[in-house]
Amino acid sequence: MRTLRLLVVLLAGLACAACPGSKRPASRVLLVGADGLEWHVLQPLLAQGKCPNLRALMERGAFGRLETMVPTLSPILWTTIATGKRPEQHGIHGFTDADLKQYTSSQRRVRALWNIADRCELASDVCGWWITWPVEELRGAMVSGSSSSALVEANWKPALIPGAPRQVWPAELEPEVLRIANEAGALDAVQRLARERVFGSFAEGELGAVEKKLMQQTYWSVQSDATYAAIAERLLREDPGDLNLVYFGGTDVVGHRFWRYYEPQAFHWPEDPELQAQLAKPEACERLARAIPNYYEWFDQMLGRLVAAAGADATVIVCSDHGFHAYSTDKPNPLFVTGHHLDGPPGVFIAAGPGIARFGDATRFVQQNELETAASILDIAPMVLALLGIPRGADMPGAAPAGLLDERARAAAALAPVPTHDTGFRASHEEDVPEEMRANYVERYKQLGYIGTEDGASPKPPR
Ligand SMILES: [Zn+2]
Repeated sequence: MRTLRLLVVLLAGLACAACPGSKRPASRVLLVGADGLEWHVLQPLLAQGKCPNLRALMERGAFGRLETMVPTLSPILWTTIATGKRPEQHGIHGFTDADLKQYTSSQRRVRALWNIADRCELASDVCGWWITWPVEELRGAMVSGSSSSALVEANWKPALIPGAPRQVWPAELEPEVLRIANEAGALDAVQRLARERVFGSFAEGELGAVEKKLMQQTYWSVQSDATYAAIAERLLREDPGDLNLVYFGGTDVVGHRFWRYYEPQAFHWPEDPELQAQLAKPEACERLARAIPNYYEWFDQMLGRLVAAAGADATVIVCSDHGFHAYSTDKPNPLFVTGHHLDGPPGVFIAAGPGIARFGDATRFVQQNELETAASILDIAPMVLALLGIPRGADMPGAAPAGLLDERARAAAALAPVPTHDTGFRASHEEDVPEEMRANYVERYKQLGYIGTEDGASPKPPR
């Protein structure tokens, strides 16, 4: 019997030399991505006792700045976070490829954390992560994260497009996922969330044409985040993975759209009666100043539910791909994009739970704004692997920062790296993206100012 077990272990070892064998990881890992989350916005909120769930993680774990890279574009950075690889290695170079076709998961050239975990017989639940359409077959579940592009302006579909193929793995989970998406993403639910959580109520005539458009353009992210949060919570409660990833995009979207209201003193625009006529009155602008912090508070509430669903024994990592600051401060741009991050301001890293050491003093940060650099986005994947007991690949430029890990996780992080986790990975190839997803995708990023803007001030995706 013992010999047989040894043989099985040996064979498993042959299948994947990098894997911890039959050993389960010491704890479940929950990695929550919050796009564009910025410490300067968080600090006063934490000081006021808001965002208590983030604060609780900071109090019992590690936190600090997370270094990022340029070009600071979400599809690149979130793929880097999930793979531990630079863009020239993972092959995702922006929102769209040279033909303005959205990148798909099939074009990723390297294994992501969920593929590596799968080879090690660990289950992953992945929800809403960038460049995960079409879903990949793995132990666990995946709800893809490109199709929320279906929601633009008057196009009030749920974040998951009914009928579009390959958005949910395994297929038998699809009816349940679409049921949750329909409920969480219903138009009246989204309008209520936008009103109650983000913007507040405005009387007829209080808002200008500009603000009405900015608010409307934010609804899709309210819908996507509400939908993915509900699906992720259901997965965490009923069928959690050893590794769980959830992505929130709205924290970035409100940053782009509402920074002028959030930090009006940074903007010195010339007097322009024509523009003035399209803007809300000062009192309404003051209330819109709350849109960004309100969204952060709402994110914190969703995070709290996920942390509770993951259980007290889970290791939780929250990170943003970059920070945020004021943009276009001397003259308005046609799209009214007033917050940006293209120069790569550092993002947020917060982690707590088994494997995580104490790093950073939450009280000192809140009172004195004292903050250290904790890691780089390149370090997240090796860190997650260490928490799962899997050695990193030697071709990963980052490493799990020892100062963020407790003794056990440090030992796992110190395991000799395997040369690569990518041997035998499928070849990178193009997918036929359903036309509906593609058209909406391009439209959405035009709105955000990433594609084909006329003033030349807004960034274009790298070709
Ligand atoms: Zn952004």
